[in-house]
Amino acid sequence: MLCGVRVQDNLKVFASNSEKEQGPFNCPGCKHELVLRKGRIKVHHFAHKPPYNCERGDGESDVHRKCKESIYNSLSKCSHVTNLEVEADFGSVIADVYCLINNVPVAIEIQRSKLSVNEITARTSAYEKLGIHVLWLALFNKNLGEEKYNPKAWEKWCHATYFGRVYYWVADLTIAPVHFSEYQNYVESSSWYNECGEEQSAGGYYKSSKRYKTPSIGTYLNLATDFNPSYKQAWTRGTVHVPNCRVYNDKLRKWW
Ligand SMILES: [Zn+2]
Repeated sequence: MLCGVRVQDNLKVFASNSEKEQGPFNCPGCKHELVLRKGRIKVHHFAHKPPYNCERGDGESDVHRKCKESIYNSLSKCSHVTNLEVEADFGSVIADVYCLINNVPVAIEIQRSKLSVNEITARTSAYEKLGIHVLWLALFNKNLGEEKYNPKAWEKWCHATYFGRVYYWVADLTIAPVHFSEYQNYVESSSWYNECGEEQSAGGYYKSSKRYKTPSIGTYLNLATDFNPSYKQAWTRGTVHVPNCRVYNDKLRKWW
């Protein structure tokens, strides 16, 4: 986690602005003592002093923290963004970044590998009840430039939730919207003889792949200016279930 509570004055402080001598620091959730990590390579952060039993900060990679810190720092420079907070605690859910953008309450959630679709769905429902619009972001990866991509379950969920887009964080406030189109597999033609000696044949055509999709990257978006709040009604298809939710989505026309 990027922030901890400085015990001497009970203030929420950033690891990047703190020194060991100002400690101790406690977890804002479980109140357990934290260790300040200020290495040369990784993003400065706090970690629970073991042993501990708290989920805060769990599953956060360095790139996850980098993304959170970068979005926070960039939003702090925007005059139409207010009430900005990192790791904002709403009781039922903790937002990676929370703020009002033109007075619209927005929670920015960055996907981490450990988070299941069930958890994403539960958090999204929690934000709906709080009246907060949620923007789920994934980290951009180079495979998105390939013709063939195997989206994970949570990417399929985001695609359904955000009207056919998954949002990938590139840098600062830059977000790449990606649509996944059908990927066509070629079924090789083959022929054989049946029991009666008649020649049979099959294949020689294209068939939509169940596993693979073709990514189509849209115009890059600015998180602070290119998104709108929307309400999405519950929606189910196959194994994908989207609850009633308040989303924060782009205004682009379909580019695919
Ligand atoms: Zn804790």
